[in-house]
Amino acid sequence: MIVCPGTGEYKNYHSETLMHMRPSVVVNVAMSADGKLSTRERRQVKISGSNDFARVDRLKAGCDAVMVGIGTVLADDPSLTVKNPDLKAERQQGGRPEHPVRVVIDSGARIPPEAAILNKGDGLRVVAVAERADPARVATLREKATVITAGRDEVDLPRVLDELGHMGIRRLMVEGGGTLIAGLVRAGLVDEIYTYIGSIVISGKDAPTLADGEGWVRESDFARLTLADVTRVDDGVLLHWTVRR
Ligand code: NAP
Repeated sequence: MIVCPGTGEYKNYHSETLMHMRPSVVVNVAMSADGKLSTRERRQVKISGSNDFARVDRLKAGCDAVMVGIGTVLADDPSLTVKNPDLKAERQQGGRPEHPVRVVIDSGARIPPEAAILNKGDGLRVVAVAERADPARVATLREKATVITAGRDEVDLPRVLDELGHMGIRRLMVEGGGTLIAGLVRAGLVDEIYTYIGSIVISGKDAPTLADGEGWVRESDFARLTLADVTRVDDGVLLHWTVRR
């Protein structure tokens, strides 16, 4: 079910005539040399430098939507807006909003109404919740975001991607964190992964990594990747992977 904020009605993001299909999914994360996304207390760490920030901004500007899990919203309070004025202008010249649609995966509708992602910058927000979410919280959320209800206890990610496809979203960037990425990889929904590896060691067995969650036991379940590119960026290295089907 999709309900738009304010009007209460479903709206197609691009055009009624677009074919409905799942968006292609590109994951982008920055990790330390020891594979951690943040500290064990889930405190955000500056892992990359200005060239990588610019690359991530370009990647974001080239996507129709950008997604994070509620863990990332609560830990970092990101706005996920495009920062570079030239990139924003380019999007507008191409008939697109300044910022991609911002999507949060949040089974329990825990997102605070004052979260930056709901308030900073123009453009559509989508929050995907599960059926267990408190109706009062969902009603409040609808004042600021389009709400998708998918899944009973946790958000059903394939269904969310279907709904995003219906809205005309063709390319979706996922900015983390590790729990959401694991869920997407496990569901076979990820097409590409960019991992920036920075020149620090964060350490800690409980610090988040690229793919957390339960983990697989059988080797046959592991996701297999193909290395598409390797580039030295700032003081680290950028790996571009594609996910084998
Ligand atoms: P997360 O991946 O952002 O969000 C995970 C949450 O999403 C789950 O706990 C769950 O909460 C919700 N969810 C709902 N349905 C799901 C599903 N089907 N599969 C997976 N998740 C689902 O949180 P996180 O793993 O705690 O990561 C946050 C940390 O990552 C922070 O420390 C942040 O700084 C870091 N981070 C780093 C980078 C980087 O590039 N270095 C990028 C992003 C984040 P509910 O059950 O409540 O819905």
